[in-house]
Amino acid sequence: MATASPDAVREEFRTWLHENWDPDLTVAEWWERFGDSGWATPTWPTEWFGRGLGRDAVQTVGEELRAAGAVGPPSGLGVLLAGPTILTHGTDEQKARYLRPIVTGQEGWCQLFSEPGAGSDLASLQTKAERDGDEWVINGQKVWTSGGQAAELGMLLARTDPAAPKHKGITYFAFPMEQAGVEVRPLREMTGRALFSEVFFDDARVRHDAIIGDLNQGWIVANTTLANERAGLGSGGSGAGGGAYPGRKAGMLKVRAGDLAERTSRAGVQPANFGRSFQLLRTLADKVGRSDDPIIRQRLVELYTLIELGRITGLRIKASMAAGRGPGPEANTAKLSMSRICRLVRDLGPEILGPDAMLVGNDTTGGGVVQEMVLFAPAPSIYGGSDEIQKNIIGERVLGLPKEPGPDKNTPFRELKVGTQTA
Ligand SMILES: Cc1cc2nc3c(=O)[nH]c(=O)nc-3n(C[C@H](O)[C@H](O)[C@H](O)COP(=O)(O)OP(=O)(O)OC[C@H]3O[C@@H](n4cnc5c(N)ncnc54)[C@H](O)[C@@H]3O)c2cc1C
Repeated sequence: MATASPDAVREEFRTWLHENWDPDLTVAEWWERFGDSGWATPTWPTEWFGRGLGRDAVQTVGEELRAAGAVGPPSGLGVLLAGPTILTHGTDEQKARYLRPIVTGQEGWCQLFSEPGAGSDLASLQTKAERDGDEWVINGQKVWTSGGQAAELGMLLARTDPAAPKHKGITYFAFPMEQAGVEVRPLREMTGRALFSEVFFDDARVRHDAIIGDLNQGWIVANTTLANERAGLGSGGSGAGGGAYPGRKAGMLKVRAGDLAERTSRAGVQPANFGRSFQLLRTLADKVGRSDDPIIRQRLVELYTLIELGRITGLRIKASMAAGRGPGPEANTAKLSMSRICRLVRDLGPEILGPDAMLVGNDTTGGGVVQEMVLFAPAPSIYGGSDEIQKNIIGERVLGLPKEPGPDKNTPFRELKVGTQTA
């Protein structure tokens, strides 16, 4: 890993940005330039669209992009999850096939992990894959698939060996979403948006060479994805100017980059960006004349403290990753702490707004962002592993408490009583 000083990294990126950011490019053209330079994913290795820098570089790049009003790297699960997983477990051919379209935003990814009977207990998944020559035939159902409607590819976990114990007969595929055997049905949340969807597979197909990692060893690969997810969610993501979604279906590639950047900055703090909620609520308290209220002040300080602790925990995650240890238990505590921040924002925002909090829409006090955050607040304590599951992991792997009892470690999956098992 390169050891350039943070100031040198900032200076180098600032110069590059000054020479290369052009608001008149389309988003696709800008992402090509940005992705190929290695600055869109600076922690990735230099031979694979990165610059081999430490995690701090992500923050630095994000700050400089915001200061310049430029479009950030492609949002979504390609850069966050699929890319790091393929870098860790993929062959060189797979890296050559999948990584460039991720960093240049040409292809969007979704995560096809959860099923109606397999969320927290993910290894109970029943979607099955059966070999047919050079291909695998997929049948089953996924649920809660964020961005499933707009993705070209999915990180698919499917059961390839029901005779093996449940963690050992799963395979990880880079799965093409655009085919006849795939039906994506959007699910509407109480925010009014349809962030996620159900995905049904009916004799869908995926090539054998799209297996990431080894056959039946998908659990190991999935854990790399999940560790990156927890680390990303707990630290509040990259912080870079986001809001620009990759892939042909998301419809942003042909937009003028300058227009998209302006749209994103006008949107201000995004509903899901709880890491920046202190500034939002503090400004709002000033605006509605409540910043002298001692209770509001006390709770704002509590929010500031939690966010600051989250930032420091994020630094510990970065240090652990820079030392080659990967995201450790700090990622679990960071994620738990983010759930606490969400609950505090859910309570404090309406307290500041008073009765206005019951109104929804852009023309309400504060632009409706608090209301959106209130409605979205339950989600972060569920996705990426619920609070209870984070506590279980901390109990077992950090505190050394006994594992949850159960016969499923060594029993063949098909002998387990899992839901309405058909695999
Ligand atoms: C906004 C959002 C986006 C999501 N996006 C995706 C996505 O893109 N791709 C994807 O694959 N999934 C996604 N998910 C699914 C998410 O990962 C699951 O919802 C989560 O893992 C919980 O699984 P479940 O919903 O089946 O709940 P269950 O596992 O049925 O849990 C129900 C309750 O029981 C508790 N519980 C379960 N087991 C235990 C235990 N052993 N000990 C103690 N308590 C326990 C849980 O904490 C929870 O409170 C998303 C979820 C949300 C809310």
